[in-house]
Amino acid sequence: MTEVAEQRESRAGGEIVRISHWIDGKRVEGFSGRSGPVYNPSKGVQTGAVDFASVEEIDAAVQAAARAFESWRTISLSRRTELFFRIRELVHDHAEDIARILTLEHGKVLSDAKGEVARGLEVIEFCCGIPDLLKGGYSEQASTGIDVYSIRQPLGVVAGITPFNFPAMVPMWMWAPAIACGNAFVLKPSEKDPSASVFTAELLKEAGLPDGVFNVVHGDKVAVDAILEHPGIAAVSFVGSTPIARYVYETGTAKAKRVQALGGAKNHMIVLPDADIDMAADAAVSAGYGSAGERCMAVSMLVAVGHAADDLVEAIVERLPKVKVGDGLDPDSEMGPLVTREHRDKVASYIDRGRDEGATVVTDGRETAPDNGGFFLGVSLLDNVKPEMDVYKDEIFGPVLGITRVETYEEAVRLVNENPYGNGVALFTRDGGVARQFQFEVKAGMVGVNVPIPVPVAYYSFGGWKSSLFGDLHIYGPEGIQFYTRGKVVTSRWPDPATSKVDLGFPQTR
Ligand code: NAD
Repeated sequence: MTEVAEQRESRAGGEIVRISHWIDGKRVEGFSGRSGPVYNPSKGVQTGAVDFASVEEIDAAVQAAARAFESWRTISLSRRTELFFRIRELVHDHAEDIARILTLEHGKVLSDAKGEVARGLEVIEFCCGIPDLLKGGYSEQASTGIDVYSIRQPLGVVAGITPFNFPAMVPMWMWAPAIACGNAFVLKPSEKDPSASVFTAELLKEAGLPDGVFNVVHGDKVAVDAILEHPGIAAVSFVGSTPIARYVYETGTAKAKRVQALGGAKNHMIVLPDADIDMAADAAVSAGYGSAGERCMAVSMLVAVGHAADDLVEAIVERLPKVKVGDGLDPDSEMGPLVTREHRDKVASYIDRGRDEGATVVTDGRETAPDNGGFFLGVSLLDNVKPEMDVYKDEIFGPVLGITRVETYEEAVRLVNENPYGNGVALFTRDGGVARQFQFEVKAGMVGVNVPIPVPVAYYSFGGWKSSLFGDLHIYGPEGIQFYTRGKVVTSRWPDPATSKVDLGFPQTR
């Protein structure tokens, strides 16, 4: 039985287990003396205590990664591919185990947790094609007797800092391409649900990944700052809220690191009068309340155009009582709890805030939340939300869906384009011409046409615009490969007496 599996048993018996770092291929207990609580949100009880790393512990992980990098970068592409196929098999075979860990610490329902693992697995599968992804260009006879070719090389030790809402998938989006490209990786997962990362480390070791290539250090701001300051780390991938993304980007780049920092979101779904209202209502309920609204691609604002509004509200209200809220391990549950009590209370406070600001509270999720001590909140719907209200402006990150009513398509697009965030957006319509115009003019990184959560497949890249991304390159897919490598161009000539002569002029290409 793996260590994480053993821990799961202990927790089932009511014990508070210690969750430690993973450095150089083994579990390493923290010595900082600091730790944070980990809860089972469905029960509302603490089940774990996660070690918080000090500056010295981050350094130990970076040193281990730096040692491992030297040999890892020399491993042939065919061996790396072979290893990635093994990793793929192990993650696939343990998908249910990983999903259960997610449900026990994050709270999302098991079916959703399995979906998360599946979307991470897609990126691992993409990385099985690493020989093709790292192919460079070659120009024979670029000049007489001279050939030019480009290669992409790994950066060295790279780090990932991840949010609580996708404790397995977002790390996979980072470590899989980073390692496939030949880097060594240091992961600092969310301190709220850290166990999936340690379990992943065990699987990677079982697959045959050399010790030190993948390390996990837990912690809070101290650990993040130590990563940003460490001269041995070449690049940082971050996913989390916008204020921290901006901080990580500014601090990391000031230290001459390459940084991609994905931030928060306020995703709009525009419903035009010609849309299939049942299809739009199903999509709004799934994308607004799935994972209790704790998705960076969740739809949080519906923009109903013209007479679509009344029909849409009616269709959504009809569906809400059927959303079963409960323990994520109960197969009947469709929506689990929020991640912590504080977060649940903050999300719930937006219901009163919306009413005070003049929105109509159509459904109040506090009235339907299971009352068992878990961090539950039922589904809430606010109508007549206006752009100047906090419930519109803030990323609520919970099961509170807002509806704003506008008269025209142009007004709807203006709302999206003027919003500071630009992660995902969706348009529901039957009009192909309008949809085409929409994709042309909308200011967001991921666009859905009659698709509410347009998370790109693994062979495209994921990322938003505006305050949803700091940095130039999106995550995973071709841009992920670019992020974790740097280019080199070689200009070569082999000794050829016929073309050899002294020439003090600037090299010409003809
Ligand atoms: P968060 O910003 O609070 O935390 C993210 C990471 O930053 C964690 O590892 C955390 O330990 C660390 N951190 C927190 N406070 C810090 C500080 N003051 N200094 C340094 N590091 C700090 O985000 P979260 O609450 O874990 O996750 C939810 C947020 O993530 C939402 O805003 C959501 O939209 C966003 N998110 C975005 C994407 C995306 O792809 N754009 C994906 C998932 C989540």
